[in-house]
Amino acid sequence: MSVISSLTDYIKNGKKREEVPHGLCPNCWGRLEYGGEFYKAVQKENLDLNNLEKHKGWIQALATKYAYGLELKKKGAEWECELCNTKYENE
Ligand SMILES: [Zn+2]
Repeated sequence: MSVISSLTDYIKNGKKREEVPHGLCPNCWGRLEYGGEFYKAVQKENLDLNNLEKHKGWIQALATKYAYGLELKKKGAEWECELCNTKYENE
């Protein structure tokens, strides 16, 4: 799953601020307090299912700002965050 579709999913499902978008490092996401920032930004823009398409560029910018560095990379049977080197079990 790409970072963009993961973030889009997060918005579509009306996730809470504590939740981590799929495929991103929960460790870094939490440590950098991206959850709060991202959530605030989504609320501010009033993003929902109906206007997601119109805001694609905005989501892209948000992904660049918050998410790309935290994307988990597949390493053998595990997923690894290159930022903090934490390994996660395969899902
Ligand atoms: Zn990490």
